[in-house]
Amino acid sequence: MSDYEYDLFVIGAGSGGVRAARLAAQLGKRVAIAEEYRVGGTCVIRGCVPKKLLVYGSRYGAELEDAKAYGWSYEDLQFDWPTLIHNVQREVDRLNGVYTRTLENAGVERFLMRATVEGPHSVRLADRDAPITAEYILVATGSAPSFPSLPGAEHFISSNECFQLTALPESIVILGAGYIGMEFCSIFAGLGVPVTVIYRGDQILRGFDDDLRDQVAESLRDRGVDLRMDTNITSIEKDGQSYRVALTDGDILHTSAVMAATGRAPNTKGLGLEAAGVDLGDNGRVIVDAYSKTCADSIYAVGDVTDRANLTPVAIREGTAFVETVFEGAPKAMDYSFIPTAVFTEPEIGTVGLSERDARKTHEIHIYKTTFRPMRATLSGRGEKVFMKLVVDADSDRVLGLHMVGPDAAEIAQMAAIPLKLGATKADFDSTMALHPSLAEEFVTLRQRWEPPTPIKGSDAAA
Ligand code: NDP
Repeated sequence: MSDYEYDLFVIGAGSGGVRAARLAAQLGKRVAIAEEYRVGGTCVIRGCVPKKLLVYGSRYGAELEDAKAYGWSYEDLQFDWPTLIHNVQREVDRLNGVYTRTLENAGVERFLMRATVEGPHSVRLADRDAPITAEYILVATGSAPSFPSLPGAEHFISSNECFQLTALPESIVILGAGYIGMEFCSIFAGLGVPVTVIYRGDQILRGFDDDLRDQVAESLRDRGVDLRMDTNITSIEKDGQSYRVALTDGDILHTSAVMAATGRAPNTKGLGLEAAGVDLGDNGRVIVDAYSKTCADSIYAVGDVTDRANLTPVAIREGTAFVETVFEGAPKAMDYSFIPTAVFTEPEIGTVGLSERDARKTHEIHIYKTTFRPMRATLSGRGEKVFMKLVVDADSDRVLGLHMVGPDAAEIAQMAAIPLKLGATKADFDSTMALHPSLAEEFVTLRQRWEPPTPIKGSDAAA
């Protein structure tokens, strides 16, 4: 046994930190964890979990409307935001308890306070004079919303505050069209709140396949969302009970809430990492190698604080790989290929692998795609559309990317990630029997290769 008080001290009890602490403790290591907010981290407390519950809540209105065509009737349909947010918070409290008990049962000592790093093997807790020593320190402090600095930026709310709203805003302006902006846009729109999205680029959801971006933007506009591209907010002023939002294109909006969904910054400020010999990147991220080790041999970091792939399952895998590397003698480098991801907009995006644009940079590719009306919309008459696309390597026939917009796209992308990671070819997809009637069967019946439209030249057009 080493002379240190602990074998491992984890800072941050979110997805990555809790997983690493629990696994190390189950191996018989002496483990402590510090958390300054609530055990569970962003995903459980103010991210994925409460967000998905709000997504469910926001979809019932349209579903109940569609149910009429299926013979259902009801009177006096009402929506009550306090009921939804209260029930969501109750579930968050339950999960907070589950995570706390997981640590307790594994024998992890918990300190519910801020901890900072003092040296390669020492950590200082907010309420103590003497530092605590540990053979290894794992930094798993996550990230926090970051706002652009502009006059009136103090009026922004972030996704954090959305989970605490006591009343639904009468209208909302959302700055940013990434994951969070678009998901909250769908949530508020589904609950009947007029939503305006302000985005500096030319199309929402930069980085996703262009067809997905176009499809979701069109669907959101059909649902009444005001998507404003190529513009930005220049200032926000409080105007009585509402806000006056000035845009770069000269327009002025009046709204009852302004949300910034402009990305998240790694939580490293004031953590003492530089003094302990850890290098930070320009946005404050902890720089690590493939094994999550910083340039200080005894300090590792996992999850959003390293700004690699900022997703909960990735943080959990990084936490697991850290324990295997450090405590099990089985060094495990992370594999970031074919990570499936979803955007829980309405309609939803599910995607895995390369977008068409990225694939074209390195491969000769074939594209297969289809747009159709889902069966459930035939009776309701809703103008809902499903979009599916395969990006295929022309040389090897390997499926490089699978993209979908439509119901259950997240569930389908998760399962599709398995064959894609195993190297499935288009021929493998074609030889798989369809499950009928389902949406996903379209992925195994896409026969017609898509060809880009031939450009029409002046002389050709005249011919
Ligand atoms: P994103 O990076 O996804 O999007 C940020 C958006 O804000 C972009 O549209 C960006 O524009 C814009 N933006 C950034 N800075 C400015 C600025 N100064 N002025 C105006 N616009 C700006 O961040 P999010 O906050 O949406 O989400 C953070 C992370 O959380 C995601 O990267 C993701 O990893 C994770 N997440 C995952 C979810 C899921 O898996 N379903 C759900 C929610 C979050 P531009 O495109 O031009 O950069």
